[in-house]
Amino acid sequence: MRVAVIGGGVIGVCTAYYLAEAGHEVAVIERYGNVAQEASFGNLDLMGPSAVRPWATPGTVGRVFSMLFRPESPMAFSARFEPAMWRWLRRSMSECALPRYKQNQQRLLRLASYSQELMQHLVQTCELDFQQRNGALMMFRTSRELELAQPMMELLGEIGGRHELLDIEAARQLEPALSSETAFHSALYIPDDWSGNCPLFVRQMKSLAQDKGVEFHFNTEVQAIRPEIGGVSFQIEGRSIDTDAVVVAAGSDSVRLLKAIGISLPLYPVKVYSASTPIQEYELAPQLSVFDDTYRVGLTRLGKRIRIAGCAELGSSNFDLNQKAVNTLVKVGDDWFPNAANYRTASFWCGPAAMLPEGVPLLGATRYPNVFINTGHGAGAWAMAAGSGKLMADLISSRRTEIDMDGLTLTRYGDRMR
Ligand SMILES: Cc1cc2nc3c(=O)[nH]c(=O)nc-3n(C[C@H](O)[C@H](O)[C@H](O)COP(=O)(O)OP(=O)(O)OC[C@H]3O[C@@H](n4cnc5c(N)ncnc54)[C@H](O)[C@@H]3O)c2cc1C
Repeated sequence: MRVAVIGGGVIGVCTAYYLAEAGHEVAVIERYGNVAQEASFGNLDLMGPSAVRPWATPGTVGRVFSMLFRPESPMAFSARFEPAMWRWLRRSMSECALPRYKQNQQRLLRLASYSQELMQHLVQTCELDFQQRNGALMMFRTSRELELAQPMMELLGEIGGRHELLDIEAARQLEPALSSETAFHSALYIPDDWSGNCPLFVRQMKSLAQDKGVEFHFNTEVQAIRPEIGGVSFQIEGRSIDTDAVVVAAGSDSVRLLKAIGISLPLYPVKVYSASTPIQEYELAPQLSVFDDTYRVGLTRLGKRIRIAGCAELGSSNFDLNQKAVNTLVKVGDDWFPNAANYRTASFWCGPAAMLPEGVPLLGATRYPNVFINTGHGAGAWAMAAGSGKLMADLISSRRTEIDMDGLTLTRYGDRMR
C-alpha cells in the first residue's frame, strides 16, 4: 500500500520505518525542516519502564494541590483556564483511582517492554549509537512516596522488570555523586532502563527508513485529511493528494486533524519543560539517570551535558517559559547534583506533549478503514516508539500483532468512537 505518515516525531519516524520494512511505499509529511523538532526534541531521553508512569497515579491530586502555591511544583497552571483543560483534568483525576491506575500502568508497561526488546534488536542489528547509558534511580524523598509507588513496583515485577529498592547508603554507593545535603527515604534502582539522545536516535531512524525507501517531505503541513471509499486524500497547500492509507502521528496536532473528520480524542497538549547545561565537574555529575518522584522531574547525563526535564504546565498555548517550571528544574538539579553544573544558566525549552487522561497512547484503526492513529504517548513516547511503530505496521498489513492490543486502541472508549 501507499501509506502517508503525518508527523516526523519519534512516533511517526518509527512507524514509517516498520511500515517500509513490511513492504509498503511510505511517505512522511512533516511541517518543520527536519525530524524531531517538536516534543521529540526536548525529550529527557529516558527509556524503559521508569519513563512510562502516567501522570494520573494514586496520590497525584493531593501532591499537586499541596504544592500548588510553592515556588516549585510538579505541575504549573497558566492564567488561561479553558474548558478543554478542565475536561481533561477532571478525566485525569478519575484515572488516579488505584484500579484505574493499575490498568493504565499495566498497558504502558506491556507496550514499553515490547518496545525495549525491539530497540535492543535495532541497536544490535543496525549498530545504532545514540549516546545510550544504562540504569535509572527513582528517588523517594519520603516513606509516603515509596508507599504510593508500591503498585508500580509490583507491576514492574509482574512483567519481569528487574528492580531493587535501595536504602540511603546503598543508593549513595551506586551513585556516589548524589548530594549528601539532600535528605531522602529510599531509591528504586532499575538497571535495564536506558537513557540516550532521542533526537539523534530519530535522525538515525530517519536514515534507516530512507534506506528502506521512505520519502520525507519537510516544510509541508497537512491541512486536512479526507477519508474516501477505497483510500484517503489529504490537503497540502490547497492541493489534494490521494493515497491508500494515512497514519496520524502528528503529536498534539492530531486532535485538530481528527476532530475535522468527527473523531474527538480527549487529548490535551500539556506543556513540558527541559533544560540542558554543560557539565562543569565530571566526577560530581550523575552516572545513572535520576528521577525525582516528588517533582516528577528526571535528570540524565548526555555526553558532555546534563539534561533535566519534567513539570507539566496546563492552560498555556504559547512557548513562554513559566517561572515555576524553571524553578522546579533548577531545584531538582541543585538538590541532587549541586556542583555538577550551573542549572540557572541552562538553556530552557518547552513543548507540547500530547497526553490522554489515562496516559496510555491510542494506536490502530479508526471508524474510517484507511485512517489510522498513533498518538497520545504523553511523557513516555520514546519508551514506546519502536513498539508502537511495529504494531501499526502489523495492523495495517493485517498481520497478527506480537503483543495483546487490549486497551491500546480506540475501542477502549466504547462504541461512540467507532
Ligand atoms: C520535555 C519533555 C521530556 C520528555 N521526556 C521523555 C522521556 O524521558 N522519555 C520518553 O519516552 N518520552 C519523553 N517525553 C515524551 C516524548 O518526547 C513525546 O511524547 C514524544 O516526543 C511524542 O512524539 P510524537 O512523535 O508523538 O510527537 P512529536 O515529537 O511532537 O512529533 C509530531 C510531529 O508532527 C508534526 N506535525 C504536526 N501536525 C502536522 C501537520 N498538520 N502536518 C505535518 N506535520 C505535522 C510536528 O511538526 C511534529 O514534528 C518527553 C516530552 C517532553 C516535552
